[in-house]
Amino acid sequence: MLGISHLVAGAAIGAAVPDRGARTATVLASHVLLDFIGHDDHTVSPVTQGALAIGGVAVLASTWGARSPVVEAALVSAIPDLEVLVDLALGRRFSHYLFPSHWQFRRTRGSHPYRLPGRTVHIRAEVAAAITVLAALAMLGIGRRR
Ligand SMILES: [Zn+2]
Repeated sequence: MLGISHLVAGAAIGAAVPDRGARTATVLASHVLLDFIGHDDHTVSPVTQGALAIGGVAVLASTWGARSPVVEAALVSAIPDLEVLVDLALGRRFSHYLFPSHWQFRRTRGSHPYRLPGRTVHIRAEVAAAITVLAALAMLGIGRRR
């Protein structure tokens, strides 16, 4: 899934789970579960993915506070994808990835052994869902700070 999707899922968990240990474990589990769903993130350039992610963090930081558990959980949820980002930046040099939901049989699309069967979520639907949840979280954050 896109970084923005992981960030938003992590932020939602951050808003709901007060205990830091439980929150971190839940956030990392959410990353695995979201990666189980077939997705189209290779159709979005790394620059656009980065812009979406930075924009998402900016919205969460400005509405919940930069040091809030919500922002912390959002960042933790996206950390596993750094290995993919670094690999792409280096020209796909890694022979394998560390995070379980990134494991692949081969380095080609559709080779993920863990993907759920069924249709791939269209990238537009994924971005729309992420931005909708981000907007709801922003409204919740603004409401809590008043
Ligand atoms: Zn991932």
